[in-house]
Amino acid sequence: METCFFCETRPADPPSAVEVQLRGEKLGTRKTGFKQYTTTYEGRRVPVPRCSACAEIHRKQRRSAGTSTVLGTVGVLVILGGFYMGGWAKSR
Ligand SMILES: [Zn+2]
Repeated sequence: METCFFCETRPADPPSAVEVQLRGEKLGTRKTGFKQYTTTYEGRRVPVPRCSACAEIHRKQRRSAGTSTVLGTVGVLVILGGFYMGGWAKSR
């Protein structure tokens, strides 16, 4: 029997398994000389074994996910801003 991927102690509960959407590559248009084509990589769904206890934890976490997403976005912007300002300062 499979063990839960998250706590690694309890046995996995098949109905509680979670499908993780792996993000596909950027949809891009490539130009190679005279030929132009669009590359599309579909994101893959990978099943991850999970126990019912972890499923419950994740259900609760999702309720407060809105806040953490906003905080995460702000964090990324701050980091990007730092890189940008650093590069700008160096070039002067
Ligand atoms: Zn678990």
